[in-house]
Amino acid sequence: MSEPAARPVTCTLVAPDSGEVLSFSRYPGAFALKVGEAEVYSFDGEGRPVGLFTGDRWLRRGLDNTLVEKRAQAFTTGWQPVAPDEADPLLDRVAARLAALHDRVRAGGFVPADASSGSPGPEAVTPYLARAAAWNSRRCHADAARFRQIYRRVPILPPDQYLSVVLQPTEGCRYNRCTFCTLYRDRPFRVKSPEEFRRHLVAVRAFFGRGLARRRSLFLGDANALTLPAEALVTIFEAVQEAFAVAPGALSLAEARRWQSAGSPRFEGIYSFLDVFTGCRKSAAEYAALRERGLRRVYLGLESGHAPLLAFLRKPERVGAAVALVQTLHQAGLSVGVIVMVGVGGQRYAAGHVRDTVAALNAMALRADDLVYLSEFVEHPDSDYAAQARAEGVLPLDADALAAQAEAIRTSLRFPGPPPRLSVYRLREFVY
Ligand code: SF4
Repeated sequence: MSEPAARPVTCTLVAPDSGEVLSFSRYPGAFALKVGEAEVYSFDGEGRPVGLFTGDRWLRRGLDNTLVEKRAQAFTTGWQPVAPDEADPLLDRVAARLAALHDRVRAGGFVPADASSGSPGPEAVTPYLARAAAWNSRRCHADAARFRQIYRRVPILPPDQYLSVVLQPTEGCRYNRCTFCTLYRDRPFRVKSPEEFRRHLVAVRAFFGRGLARRRSLFLGDANALTLPAEALVTIFEAVQEAFAVAPGALSLAEARRWQSAGSPRFEGIYSFLDVFTGCRKSAAEYAALRERGLRRVYLGLESGHAPLLAFLRKPERVGAAVALVQTLHQAGLSVGVIVMVGVGGQRYAAGHVRDTVAALNAMALRADDLVYLSEFVEHPDSDYAAQARAEGVLPLDADALAAQAEAIRTSLRFPGPPPRLSVYRLREFVY
């Protein structure tokens, strides 16, 4: 099988002596292997392990070599990090298992399950098994080191952008003082020069390699790249368009997705976070110029519509400005993803948070191509929020109150037409 494939390719092999079944699937920029019923492995096109299922454990691996897992008997605890001293032996066991399968397939130990189906045989699978088997713990560490040379850590993405290619024309958060947020405390805000950003783009392309086609969109990081002046952003977007094939801005999202699936690697659009307090300084015409260059949706961290709670969070935004910003973005032809936090402000702010957040979201006249994320608030013990909550006696909500708050927001939302997609956002499960 030659690469890249526009459509998935699958084949099923069976070991005549044991009856063991090996199912192989290849997708643009990715491939997967299922062995019997208890083992599933998925890889990007380079062979990097990205997902593992071994009996009762589900594991996901990030590009920085973070491993998180979910155990069958512990679903309620969600995804948990795997301890580093356990991660390396685990990756080495998987690599050894794949190497053993490779040797068996190459030695004729597997035959097509249905020789008459015309689907590819064992010879199609061995190059992929060899590629994946090379990713032992040492290789994974070396790759993560290369990733860290190109990227500052990617601490957050909206869930619909987990599979985007992150580009970092800026690093950090220009404001960086919200009490609850520790995402970018490890770095000062910095803007790459046009030359440095172009080198970054080249390095990103080379890093993802054959895995690039697995990704659908481009995401401009870090927290508020769109805070830059309009002319600087045009230069950034044009550099991105030169480095990557981005769907023309005039296409609808459905049309962009069709355009994307006609070749690879192609990207349906460019996405980014935007903060309300700087976002409202640009005009609809300036945003429209970015839309023409591929910008499709921006994500606003509203957090809450309750002014006293925003003050408690040290978030310098006004709710009226957030509503006006959504109107401006809609006027420019962009969609928005609005993020609100569930549980933030604990018991003291709960009633006002629900009431005013619902009012703010309802005033935004959100549409079917917008998104609303209910993000579960996680209190970091070393955050300013934790210290302030302790000092002022702000008590957290328990699990039942959290669920009730999410439900109260969800069921009170009203939209002028077909509703936006509304989903839950669990930051602790994120790996890039
Ligand atoms: S919440 Fe957003 S604006 Fe506030 S510090 Fe974090 S990244 Fe910056």
